[in-house]
Formats: sequence, C-alpha cells, structure tokens
Amino acid sequence: MPEPKEFPKIAIDGPAGAGKSTVTREVSRRLELKHLDTGAMYRAITLKLINENIDLNDLDLIEKTLNRTEITFNEKQRVFLDGMDITDNIRGAEVNRLVSPVSAISLVRRRLVEMQKAVARESQGIVMEGRDIASRVMPDADFKFYLDASIEERARRRRKEQLEKGIAMTEAEVIAEIKNRDMIDSGRKDSPLTMVADAIVIDTTDMSLEAVVEEIVSIVKSKVS
Ligand code: C5P
Repeated sequence: MPEPKEFPKIAIDGPAGAGKSTVTREVSRRLELKHLDTGAMYRAITLKLINENIDLNDLDLIEKTLNRTEITFNEKQRVFLDGMDITDNIRGAEVNRLVSPVSAISLVRRRLVEMQKAVARESQGIVMEGRDIASRVMPDADFKFYLDASIEERARRRRKEQLEKGIAMTEAEVIAEIKNRDMIDSGRKDSPLTMVADAIVIDTTDMSLEAVVEEIVSIVKSKVS
C-alpha cells in the first residue's frame, strides 16, 4: 500500500449486511472526511429503471437513460436523482430485488465507476463504501477494509433495519434475499465483490458496530500524520 497522506482515501468493501453503511458514516464523521455510499448510486439507477419501466435487456435504452441521469448527494448524505430527493425510496423491496441484476450490467458499472473515480480524484480524503472499491474504484486507496459477518448475523441486522422502516420480513425471506444478492454480486463478470490481497479483514459477527468504527479509526489514526 502507498504511504498514507494527511487526507487518506479509505475503501470499505463487503457483502450486504456486514455493517458497511453505519460504519462508513461514523468513520467519516469521526475523521472529518467525505463519505460516498456507492450502493446508493446503484440503487438510484435501479429506481429510475423501475419508474420508467425499462426492460433490463434493452441496453440501448439503458444507455440513453444513463445519459440523462444525474445522481448527487448533499452534505447530509441525502441522495438526489435528477434533482429529486429519493433517499427514502431506494431501500424498498422492489429496488432490493432488482439492484444486483442492474449492477451486473457492464455499461451501468462502467458509468458509475467513472463517476466514483472522479469523486475520489477531486476529494481531499474520502471514505468510500461498496463492493469493488479497493479492487476497481480506488486501487490506490491508503486503507482497504473488508467487513464480513456470518449470514445469520447479517440477516438479523437487515431484518432489524427493515423493521425500523415498518417493513416486516421473516428471517427466511431476509436470508434468501441476502444469499441471492451475494451470489449475483460475487459471481458477476465485471468487478465482482472482491477481497483484495492487501485488505484488512474485520469479521463483525460478534462485534458492536461502535467497536468496528473504533478499530478502523485507530488503525487510520496510527498511520496518518
Ligand atoms: O450497499 P448496498 O447493499 O446498498 O448495495 C446495493 C447493491 O448495489 C449491492 O447488492 C450490489 O449489487 C450493488 N453494488 C455494487 N457495487 C458497489 C456497491 C453496490 O455492485 N460498489
């Protein structure tokens, strides 16, 4: 890994439910660094394709749609699709179901990876979370963390999150959804979920998310001037 700088670039990868979102948000707050949730970008595109009833096999139309799509974030990490705040609309069942198939479409990935690389280039330090951040988006990151947890614990966290939003799912339903997403995310040809050789792996199964944040922050602080 390159010598870390004063404004580090931190990649946080891992499967669904490993705790990335909560951890990334808190690490970026504690280190006063910008935060980019790349999953939210794939979710935003998925929502647009659903809203416009676009056939996922129609690559021409998907490309045209991407050409007239703008995804932005405000400083409170709200997500905007073509200027509309869609933060609360991208976590629903339909987006959950289709986000991995949409993310496996190469032209969607190419476009979003380009946007994410540009954000990384233009930022003075960043914490970026996703599936292919260390392997593809920021291979030059100063720190590469990979969060993992048992399927049961990941399902428990997802279910709790969904319940807080008023969505009741059985444990079996959540496990099936997570397994399906894992399979598509790990198996796709173009930049799959990857644990790079120099990743710092944290198994969060028996850890509180506060403890995970503490571990990441102390590793970064011990190396950053
Ligand atoms: O992180 P989150 O669960 O919100 O991500 C939703 C989906 O977006 C993932 O299951 C994956 O299919 C896709 N994704 C991706 N590459 C990323 C981030 C997310 O393919 N860097």
